[in-house]
Amino acid sequence: MTDAPIRFDLPHDQLPTAWLNIMPSIAQAGIQPLPPLHPGTHEPVTPDLLAPLFPEALILQEVSTDPWVDIPGEILDVYRLWRPSPLQRAVRLEKALQTTARIYYKYEGVSPAGSHKPNTAIAQAFYNKVAGTKRLATETGAGQWGSALAMASKFFGLDCQVFMVKASYEQKPYRRIFMETFGAEVVPSPSPTTQAGKAILEADPDSTGSLGIAISEAVEVAATSGGAIKYSLGSVLNHVLLHQTVIGLEAKAQMELTGDSPDVVIGCVGGGSNYAGLAYPFMADRLAGATPDLRFLATEPAACPTLTEGRFAYDFADTGQMGPLIPMYTLGHTFVPAPVHAGGLRYHGDSPSLSLLVKHGHMEAVAFSQNAVFDAAVQFAHTEGIVPAPESAHAVRGAIDEAIEARDAGEERVILFGLSGHGAFDMQAYDDYLNGRLPEVEYRQEDVTASMANVPDVPVPGEPTRA
Ligand SMILES: *Cc1c(COP(=O)(O)O)cnc(C)c1O
Repeated sequence: MTDAPIRFDLPHDQLPTAWLNIMPSIAQAGIQPLPPLHPGTHEPVTPDLLAPLFPEALILQEVSTDPWVDIPGEILDVYRLWRPSPLQRAVRLEKALQTTARIYYKYEGVSPAGSHKPNTAIAQAFYNKVAGTKRLATETGAGQWGSALAMASKFFGLDCQVFMVKASYEQKPYRRIFMETFGAEVVPSPSPTTQAGKAILEADPDSTGSLGIAISEAVEVAATSGGAIKYSLGSVLNHVLLHQTVIGLEAKAQMELTGDSPDVVIGCVGGGSNYAGLAYPFMADRLAGATPDLRFLATEPAACPTLTEGRFAYDFADTGQMGPLIPMYTLGHTFVPAPVHAGGLRYHGDSPSLSLLVKHGHMEAVAFSQNAVFDAAVQFAHTEGIVPAPESAHAVRGAIDEAIEARDAGEERVILFGLSGHGAFDMQAYDDYLNGRLPEVEYRQEDVTASMANVPDVPVPGEPTRA
């Protein structure tokens, strides 16, 4: 028996009232941020290119160099429905692993939509409402982002249209129904309702879709709407990562309650928002030189290994090449990952700030295949009682591996990981795992080689140019 405390709850009046912007810390550490580029001219993007897609307040946050951004009261009022979220010590998992490590996790599955995504959905819906937007168009992979934006749109009186990656649309009918319950219109992507979708269907009528394709469809709807419809992105962009830092700001205060400070901070990465949200308040200390030994570990699927196998390059954020060129680790914007169950991690690129931190050695990355991820998820469920989202289970795998390594080295190690969501809508994935039907899909080198050939030839300072 151990009587070690397990829950570290922040009082409600300690909900963070400002988001942390990592960009000034990155610049102060001597890392030159690279601007997004216009897809046609390859010149740095000016705010007017983004104006058809996003309200001005979000564009200003996208390029902000202020270290803190105040959270409006209307957003805090909604955050208070489930925030501050819990930080727990996984004592029962530690025991099962017989590890000398102490494992803490920050749990975002307590939000109404079941993941971290409402942290930014609420903010984006609010700023759109203030700017007079009538309707939001977006994409969703596993359905988590669409669920969050459907809820947020309803809260602020906006209509919502969601292009849902077809593989997930077919695997996860309950996610679709969840979105429809909040009044959203859900369309499987690629769809014949947009030029971008039609082009894909003509080339491949059986396309299972991808986040890159669904983004193109939603962007097209907003860009051709004449202003009434705006686009909303659930990850990758600076302002999205900014909104997610409530996670790490709370976690920092909660770690102080534990008396421990983390040796390693772990999270799963699709576009990078939940992990950046947890990690950046800690990363700011590392970049300032205060915690040079604090490690950061990003985890990703072997079927879509952007950080571990991708190249740092300027590439399109979307398959249809409608959005700006972004400096990031990419597998190529035409890469369509195998339909693994971690739908939220099936994105060909990563957020620019996270990519820079990996490139400059402030963050490590590791890729796992599906069955190893679900082994970890089930071990976590058996000990801690929470069935993780397949995406989050990548972070669980990373944390368990760190704990085993610490045990074998006879080290104490304080591990903090982000449990970005629950898997209550992912029972098909667990059924496949439990019945031995989960294929061990890795990316295929020939697919990546083919899609990398479509990455535009735009030089990145400090990177070799293509032969
Ligand atoms: C969307 C999603 C992710 C991946 O997106 P990021 O922007 O990388 O956080 C991870 N976990 C869950 C539960 C998700 O819904």
